[in-house]
Amino acid sequence: MPCGAFAATVGALQNDCSIMDFAKLTAAQQARLAKLGIQRPLDLVLHLPLRYEDQTQLYPLAEAPLGGAALVEGEVTSCEVTFKPRKQLVARVKDDTGSVMVRLLNFYPSQAQQLAVGKRVRLYGEIRRGYFGPEMVHPKIRVGGEVSLQDALSPVYPTTAGLAQHQLAGLIAKALASTPLPDTLPAPLLHELGLPDFASSVKLLHHPTPDIPQILLTARTHPAWRRLKFDELLAQQLSLRLARAIRRERTAPVIAPSGALAAQLVGNLPFGLTGAQKKVLLEITQDLQQSHPMQRLLQGDVGAGKTIVAAVAACQAIEAGYQVAMLAPTEILAEQHYQKLSQWLSPLGVRVIWLTGSLKAKEKRAALAAAEDGSGQLLVGTHAIFQASVTLHRLGLAIVDEQHRFGVAQRLALREKGGSPHQLMMSATPIPRTLAMSFYADLDVSIIDELPPGRTPIVTKLVSDARRDEIITRIAAKVAEGRQVYWVCPLIEESETLQLQTAVDTHAQLVEELPGIAVGLLHGRMKPDEKANTMAAFARNELQVLVATTVIEVGVDVPNASLMVIEHAERMGLSQLHQLRGRVGRGAHASLCILLYTGPLGDTAKARLKVIYEHTDGFEIARQDLQIRGPGELAGVRQSGVPMLRFADLEADADLLEEARATAEDILAHQPALAQPHLDRWLPGREALLRV
Ligand code: ADP
Ligand code: MG
Repeated sequence: MPCGAFAATVGALQNDCSIMDFAKLTAAQQARLAKLGIQRPLDLVLHLPLRYEDQTQLYPLAEAPLGGAALVEGEVTSCEVTFKPRKQLVARVKDDTGSVMVRLLNFYPSQAQQLAVGKRVRLYGEIRRGYFGPEMVHPKIRVGGEVSLQDALSPVYPTTAGLAQHQLAGLIAKALASTPLPDTLPAPLLHELGLPDFASSVKLLHHPTPDIPQILLTARTHPAWRRLKFDELLAQQLSLRLARAIRRERTAPVIAPSGALAAQLVGNLPFGLTGAQKKVLLEITQDLQQSHPMQRLLQGDVGAGKTIVAAVAACQAIEAGYQVAMLAPTEILAEQHYQKLSQWLSPLGVRVIWLTGSLKAKEKRAALAAAEDGSGQLLVGTHAIFQASVTLHRLGLAIVDEQHRFGVAQRLALREKGGSPHQLMMSATPIPRTLAMSFYADLDVSIIDELPPGRTPIVTKLVSDARRDEIITRIAAKVAEGRQVYWVCPLIEESETLQLQTAVDTHAQLVEELPGIAVGLLHGRMKPDEKANTMAAFARNELQVLVATTVIEVGVDVPNASLMVIEHAERMGLSQLHQLRGRVGRGAHASLCILLYTGPLGDTAKARLKVIYEHTDGFEIARQDLQIRGPGELAGVRQSGVPMLRFADLEADADLLEEARATAEDILAHQPALAQPHLDRWLPGREALLRV
């Protein structure tokens, strides 16, 4: 069958949902299924078990493995309700070989009846060593022997409140039996990849036969698992590649390399660009000359010098007669960019406009007018720039700083602002290779892999908060040397108010403990201009110590600050700690980051603090973060708009990822008709995202 016809058949079969009618389910059932991401019969098929119960063989009681789950059968020889230490039902079940104690801590009368003396019962559950010999606590109980044994392992599915395991299992079994499961990949390709076919793979995973070692199933290394993980990764690769192809068909302004403006900017700097900065600028310059929009991610560890790269790129677009938008996730950061960029570019005659939600009405009107008539050449701001009221005259380049803070919606909004501008996204959150290959496969990536010269590495210390006094002494000494200090207050996720209170208290305390030293306070609830004033005062060294909530996490740049104290560091994530720590070590002074923790530490907190203590390289930290937390939690992935992976694990399945990547490329080049049916199966309804 030619590839096109094959694909058409698959597509037609998949869309035929009449076989198991979803509409027949009650609204409540549908809502519960939707919570599990199940909207079609096919989603039920793809809802795979978490683990399995083995009720395929019956153990004689004497041989049942202790510490594991097993199916046993016997006669109830005693049953009583005891009240010590609390009310419970205790029964003894015997077979020819031995006996087991059954305990129910909470029970219904019907359960007590099941365990009436003389009854034959089948029990399934974990058998452990108890005080009176082997015991089972709350086993599954079925009355009567004789029932034939199951011939496959029983699946245990992830479920949600109100949807009982057996109901879900029933729906899945029905879907499995009635949904056509044609393969989306042709047999020769599967043969080449050494993967089994789709239908038998899912069937096997729902109802594996007892001869399959459970470890292959739980470790997800069985070929059937590999097939599903491959399919999932392939769908992700195909969708990203298609998104990229669609973008390539749009037209963006062709921007010739800047002559005078960029050269002037660089010439005026007190430093020369690093080799890495020049390299990425070359890549950006080449992209800007293309007639399709650039989508480039500029990565560089904190302090690598991304802002000047953005400024040079902006010069090129401005010189070619286009407007540039520079967007930051917070007001503080936007303000700082505004200061820096106007300092660099205003002397060169570039009109830099400050545009945020907090502008006074009159200023705002002026800024909007300048955006609209094109006289504002570089617009710096926060999301406000995206708001419906802003019209841009001729947007040529959009620069998004700390892009992991921006969601898909904002990226979409950006496009709607002005055709298809070139996009430069900057991020200090390094993306490990496997993640870059999957979640960011639709972007081109430039990396600044070298820090500006003359930086002294940051020393990190882990200090118990019992030694807070010593820290105060150290702060006073640093300030006496002319340096400045950040004191970061703990993140309190449950309550912003509580976090604010902590910051206010800490500030008051430090004011008292550090007489003669100006201590400032910065938190998210302050008005934007108060924040800006405080930040500016700190930048001018009018404040020597800045107590701050994590609002300073991104991008703040005060080179004279060389000591950072992070309170309750154990509550913070790795990338957050790395970002925070990156606020020091920006000047030539030796810098110190003190991570204050409150013991005792849990295992994850310990692992995290160890990583941040041992490493300063953001890439290594991100890699370890990926290992500790998984990609879903890693900054940016959730917002990236790229489908999350349910089955594949980027680190463990790196080989499958490579194969999926190569296969996606091959399919799109040689058998493009295969792509859509595969995407329909794995990523239905994602057309909107493909347009980002
Ligand atoms: P980030 O990449 O974290 O955004 P910034 O752009 O804020 O870093 O740069 C950090 C600091 O390094 C700034 O003070 C900036 O002026 C300075 N800087 C940037 N490039 C160089 C360079 N090539 N040599 C010396 N200092 C530089
Ligand atoms: Mg920055």
